Amino acid sequence: MKMLIGGSLEDKENKLNVTNPYDNSIIDTVPLGSLQDTKRAILAAYDAKKVMESLSSRRISQLLYDIYQELSGKLDEFARLMTLETGKPIRDSKVEMTRSLDTILLSAEESKRIYGETVPVDAGLAGEDAIGFTIRIPVGVVSAITPFNYPVNLALHKIAPAIAAKNTVVFKPSSQAPLTAMKLAELMDSHLPDGAVNCLTGKGELIGDEMVKSNLVDKVSFTGSVATGLSIAEKASMKKLTLELGGNDPLIVLEDADIDDAVNAAVKGAYSISGQVCIAVKRIILDNSVADEFIEKLVGSTRKLRMGDPLDDKTDIGPLIDVNAALNVEKVVNDALGNGAELLCGGKRDGAFYAPTVLDRVKPDMEIVRDETFGPVAPIIRVDGSREAFSVANDTRYGLQAGVFTSSIENVKNAVKTIEAGTVLINKSTFRTDNMPFGGFKMSGLGKEGVKYAVEDMTRVKLVIL
Ligand code: NAP
Repeated sequence: MKMLIGGSLEDKENKLNVTNPYDNSIIDTVPLGSLQDTKRAILAAYDAKKVMESLSSRRISQLLYDIYQELSGKLDEFARLMTLETGKPIRDSKVEMTRSLDTILLSAEESKRIYGETVPVDAGLAGEDAIGFTIRIPVGVVSAITPFNYPVNLALHKIAPAIAAKNTVVFKPSSQAPLTAMKLAELMDSHLPDGAVNCLTGKGELIGDEMVKSNLVDKVSFTGSVATGLSIAEKASMKKLTLELGGNDPLIVLEDADIDDAVNAAVKGAYSISGQVCIAVKRIILDNSVADEFIEKLVGSTRKLRMGDPLDDKTDIGPLIDVNAALNVEKVVNDALGNGAELLCGGKRDGAFYAPTVLDRVKPDMEIVRDETFGPVAPIIRVDGSREAFSVANDTRYGLQAGVFTSSIENVKNAVKTIEAGTVLINKSTFRTDNMPFGGFKMSGLGKEGVKYAVEDMTRVKLVIL
């Protein structure tokens, strides 16, 4: 596939291979973009600002509806390519594509709801004779950088609100899974003014670095790991910044929980997309009184999951994004086992596949739960009572989501007050709709996405005084 700069598709002699993690075959190549290419793409976005700003909200909304219409006829084609490049089970790729449509639709709607507010300036001494109101104007050029795990919907959570707010975009998808996102950028470009959406491929350290540092860029919106997010925060200077980073989400099961519901949530939360989800369940904190029943049911459900060809509709668990990712999971599981954790099922690697794994007797200081383990592992930490459960839940540098299973309103109130996370879920885990404010506390990030909230962050407030 080709890069997209100023409305033209461009190739390069030097290329990167895109590999199918299921069978290691090369699916396609993408251009290895240079610093010069990045500067040209940013300039194209900068030059397109005036055109985008001159369009009415009605027109912008219509363009987003047109994109929605065209994409809705191509969901299966996009889902198949997504599965080929990520190893994500086809069922999950189809869900992502349906959600992607939602994100575009929400953006088309939101583009007509970008309001300012009246300011009662006559309440102040100097304002007796004045009238004040604010308007929301586009920030300008938005740099959008995304990870491999939700290549289309996470791109859309940046590009669609940016367009809704009349900005222009320079977009860089992950080198590990760029193809579906490039197809999306091409489709969007065919409806939008030249340069409104540009798409670069190549090395993150080179292209991403310039996309963050350039003086022509007004906002950086990044989703990815904490390490890359921190390096971006250091370089972004005075630009507006949204960082959607990693998580280490706890699922807490208290003594009065519905155990079957909690087990179902744990299976979905810990193993979907082989655990490569920012809001995956990464720690299961069990009250000792329910631990044995929960664990027996969790192991039973885990053993039923089918690993295999991600293009097969019946597959639950596909490969991880590459062998290195699976080796990393193997390393932290082995570390936990070496330090006293107990393996109840799984624990086996085969190339890029890692079997869904339940580990009991995990201690809060083990590497597997100190950092974000991006793999299909359910590490169990046993505790006594809600106080200890919430304290263990908060003992992490992350704070994306937390799920609490209980039937007591007192426990719910304590959880809402005590837990340090961007979202507290009651009797649920791993939850996202595309219109909710999504984003974490602590090292999990800065700012919120979710269409309305992203639009807010992709506009500036200008005050007018008459
Ligand atoms: P990553 O390694 O941080 O890469 C993310 C993106 O950053 C890629 O496009 C990468 O390009 C680019 N990049 C690399 N170095 C860069 C630099 N120096 N400056 C600017 N950009 C640079 O993350 P990943 O492994 O793809 O994704 C997994 C992580 O994303 C996990 O931690 C997960 O929790 C997090 N995540 C968070 C959310 C959320 O909403 N909070 C959602 C999904 C995933 P290259 O691919 O070319 O290196």
